[in-house]
Amino acid sequence: KTFQSLGICEQLVEACESLGWKNPSKIQVEAIPHALEGKDLIGLAQTGSGKTGAFALPILQALLDAPQAFFACVLSPTRELAIQIAEQFEALGSGIGIKCAVLVGGVDMVQQAINLAKRPHIVVGTPGRLVDHLTNTKGFSLRTLKYLVFDEADRLLNEDFQKSIDEILNEIPRERKTYLFSATMTKKVRKLQRASLRNPVKIEA
Ligand code: AMP
Repeated sequence: KTFQSLGICEQLVEACESLGWKNPSKIQVEAIPHALEGKDLIGLAQTGSGKTGAFALPILQALLDAPQAFFACVLSPTRELAIQIAEQFEALGSGIGIKCAVLVGGVDMVQQAINLAKRPHIVVGTPGRLVDHLTNTKGFSLRTLKYLVFDEADRLLNEDFQKSIDEILNEIPRERKTYLFSATMTKKVRKLQRASLRNPVKIEA
């Protein structure tokens, strides 16, 4: 398979090539066509499977069609993972002017607020800090959000992020696409799935 054959546009195929991604990984082959059809996704996948590309490419392709600020939000259980996800978005989106903000704890809120004032297309963060900004940072809202991603959902739900996740779900439009990726399918993950996804397609790495 090639990225083209999955429906990825030429600009993004070139971005993949410049990262040395010659062919899509298994999770990308399974996820991308459904995502481009507008389906919600549940992906069982580990880090290293290429899952970030599996959700980043369809989001970037939709963003190219209808560019806007605060287009997508990715929730991550850790600061390190959030930074890695943002780096992949930036690497894939560098040629097309994609702006990304990372909202994680342990870093100055003010600098993050300055980044939000630049109206990034993509926000990647840990749930607690994201809610801190929704509450305290003027001009930042997710009312126009089009895509929500739960990355490593099993870990997101293990770390007392439940309350923050509920607050985020209350602040974002119902009319959106949602992707949930998890290494394991736990009871809590299934509950989150029922609360936040619509007729999702299940895929496995
Ligand atoms: P992830 O599972 O998303 O954390 O990705 C793991 C690593 O695989 C990252 O360093 C990616 O840059 C790389 N990667 C993702 N997709 C591909 C691909 N199709 N071909 C080669 N490497 C990839």
